[in-house]
Amino acid sequence: MHLASLARELQQGLQGEVLINEPLARHTTWRIGGPADLLARPATGEEFDFCLDFARQKGLPLHIMGNGSNLLVRDGGVRGLVVQTRAWRQVVVREQGIKACAGALIARVLAIAVRHGLGGLEFAAGIPATIGGAVVMNAGTPEGCLGDIVRGVEIVAPDGSRRYLEGQDITFSYRSTSLRRMGTVVAVDLAMTARDPRLIQERVQANLERRRARQPLEWPNAGSVFKNPPGYYAGQLIEEVGAKGWRAGQAQVSTKHANFIINLGRATAADVLELIARIQEAVAGSFGINLELEVEVWGEGL
Ligand SMILES: Cc1cc2nc3c(=O)[nH]c(=O)nc-3n(C[C@H](O)[C@H](O)[C@H](O)COP(=O)(O)OP(=O)(O)OC[C@H]3O[C@@H](n4cnc5c(N)ncnc54)[C@H](O)[C@@H]3O)c2cc1C
Repeated sequence: MHLASLARELQQGLQGEVLINEPLARHTTWRIGGPADLLARPATGEEFDFCLDFARQKGLPLHIMGNGSNLLVRDGGVRGLVVQTRAWRQVVVREQGIKACAGALIARVLAIAVRHGLGGLEFAAGIPATIGGAVVMNAGTPEGCLGDIVRGVEIVAPDGSRRYLEGQDITFSYRSTSLRRMGTVVAVDLAMTARDPRLIQERVQANLERRRARQPLEWPNAGSVFKNPPGYYAGQLIEEVGAKGWRAGQAQVSTKHANFIINLGRATAADVLELIARIQEAVAGSFGINLELEVEVWGEGL
């Protein structure tokens, strides 16, 4: 079916926008990425379900996008339907906890946590993720990760049914969870701890300042490009092969933090992939270590 008629049909079920051939560079923190055939921005749980049903019925490849902060979308873009969760971001405070819809940004959840004196998520200050994306990736820092505080997760299973998974039924590992196989995250229940709001705010502030000092936040980026191999820091290995400052087109290995690749303005995914390949080759050559990607690559080349 023609994209325009698919978009019209999908739009009938949504208040949120449906866009055709939408450049995903507008939606990723790297500001890189070719077009999505269709991009939908559901604003409620019902609209989200409608999008998932629509993709299933029409046989469209489905891609769930949070804040696009861990994605490298190739320059030829993505076929099928991208469902962006960000417009669907309700947060409810519960006793000793918070329930957040998938699209709520960590920054927003944290602001609400501070207001209500609920601690436990401070480690995540500065991670520019939606709560859905953060839980699926088990995002974290050396101080903690989402898996530490997830009480439960509401998902839509691949057959379209909704299920509630208890935290203990989900396997959380380094930047990965069993949720990927189980379905799409609809909402997350976080177990929080009563804490002095001033203390929470201080911790949040300290973490934000540490990031500003160490990370090239003045340029578009996607956080750490590679996972830390067991026993090593990827950034240190990359620095030791002399890769800081390497460039391919408009992409550059950050001189501030070697595990970040920054977009100097008009970088393409091909530029970033070229740097990735050069770094992997150099690190394998010098240390015999294969650096695995932390960022996820979507779509097709030109
Ligand atoms: C400046 C910067 C700093 C960062 N610092 C950290 C850090 O300290 N620690 C860390 O772990 N990461 C960090 N990241 C990486 C990134 O923020 C995390 O990986 C985050 O979890 C991605 O969330 P997102 O909402 O942007 O997801 P996206 O990048 O949009 O998607 C990531 C993956 O999650 C899937 N997904 C998203 N939402 C859902 C959903 N509702 N249901 C099912 N699947 C879903 C997507 O399909 C995709 O596979 C950083 C990134 C940046 C740009």
